[in-house]
Amino acid sequence: MTTLIMKFGGTSVGSPAAFRQAADIVSGQARKGKGVVVVVSAMSGVTDSLTHAVLTAAAGDGDRYLDTCIELRRRHVEVVEELIREQQLRAALTTAIDDEIDEFRELCASVRVLGEATSRVMDVAVARGERLSARVLASLLRQEQIRSEAVDAREVIFTDATFQNANPIAEVTRERIGSRLTPLLAADAVPVVTGFIGATADGETTTLGRGGSDYTAAILGDGLDADAVWIFTDVDGVMTADPSTVPGARVIPVISYAEVGELAYFGAKVLHPRTIRPVIEREIPLWVKNTFAPHLPGTRIVRQSENTHGTVKAVTVIKDLSMVTVAGRGMIGVPGIAGRTFDAVAREKTSVLMISQASSEQSICFVIPTQRADAVVRTLEEEMAREIVRRDIDRIWAMNDIVIVTAVGAGMRGTPGISARLFGALGRAEINVIAIAQGSSECSTSLVIDAVDATAAVRCIHKEVIL
Ligand code: ADP
Ligand code: ASP
Ligand code: MG
Repeated sequence: MTTLIMKFGGTSVGSPAAFRQAADIVSGQARKGKGVVVVVSAMSGVTDSLTHAVLTAAAGDGDRYLDTCIELRRRHVEVVEELIREQQLRAALTTAIDDEIDEFRELCASVRVLGEATSRVMDVAVARGERLSARVLASLLRQEQIRSEAVDAREVIFTDATFQNANPIAEVTRERIGSRLTPLLAADAVPVVTGFIGATADGETTTLGRGGSDYTAAILGDGLDADAVWIFTDVDGVMTADPSTVPGARVIPVISYAEVGELAYFGAKVLHPRTIRPVIEREIPLWVKNTFAPHLPGTRIVRQSENTHGTVKAVTVIKDLSMVTVAGRGMIGVPGIAGRTFDAVAREKTSVLMISQASSEQSICFVIPTQRADAVVRTLEEEMAREIVRRDIDRIWAMNDIVIVTAVGAGMRGTPGISARLFGALGRAEINVIAIAQGSSECSTSLVIDAVDATAAVRCIHKEVIL
């Protein structure tokens, strides 16, 4: 039997109409006799509201989380009342919604008393968004005469205890997929699995990082040896740029794993970066499609792209970044400075997005999220205290308000003149490039640019896109 993983993002279940659309897409495939496993996100905005409510409670606010509870109940009950016809099913769902929200209210009340929300508590709090939507979607499918069951991913996705950004443990997860989901598929039922969430061996709730439902879909695709993974979202596929900032963005019909990996890594929210790995290793076809235009082909992600020589396929941007520079005339002769620099950054649990050799060889520059910049500079100053006293290192500082703009395209590899073209285009637009780096997979070039120029730079490079 063909097995298909269908993942629906937040906007794809963001309203009663969207839920109905998602249910129609699933039942259409299930009726064709395919084995379908659905992965579902929380309704759009729900993860944000849950997160925000807990944070305000931790800060001592006693009202905000109560408002959130009312709003979340309203949104979910609206879907149930609009879509679920049968009285008993409706009542059961409404009770389930009330239970989740009551528990959330109590959790926020405790967080308020404690004055702190640990990442462990955050995961317990936010994981309910996906549980609610999975229940609603499974009921909707049953109403459409499709056998279906909501599955809490804590029964399936086993992870380490890195709360808020947990790493799945492949072997145990694979076993659980086999014991929990395979029997459902064998019974012609459609499991509706909560995206984004997992559990540790001790049963503690974890989440896979924001946008992590894509990752759940990829893990299930791998574990079930699926024939395809379809990621349904609110745009027509992977596009040449974020359509919300570049009005002329177009759908990319075919893109390679490496290219889409660079795009996701460098900020294109359309796919969670870690999604790529499990499916690439098994060569499972991956598609990104529009829930609201399912007849369109979307984007097919393939192992190797047919190389279009010398072309830029897409452009993306990451904001809220800072560039840290460690500079000093005496650095050249001192061994291990680079190693110690990045060790210190790692101790701060900060991931480095890009490393660049600045114009002078007597400095190391790297880009990190602005929220980590102060802590990283402080740690580096401690680490290099001796070198600073000796004047081997003159200064360590962070330049804030920068962005990374990345041009992606496998055809850029080894093509002379690509950088010249990018620089030329930016030069004509009078945009200054602070630093440049070539992506590790060689299918991207990243430029550090002042934040005020971000939109202009993206639009300007987008003009160089050729599909
Ligand atoms: P979902 O809730 O379905 O997971 P996301 O909001 O996570 O959806 O991702 C889809 C959004 O990603 C789009 O609405 C779009 O604004 C944004 N996006 C950013 N860059 C791109 C790109 N290159 N192609 C398509 N969408 C992009
Ligand atoms: N609901 C989660 C989030 O908003 C996971 C996801 O949508 O993929 O990050
Ligand atoms: Mg997403």
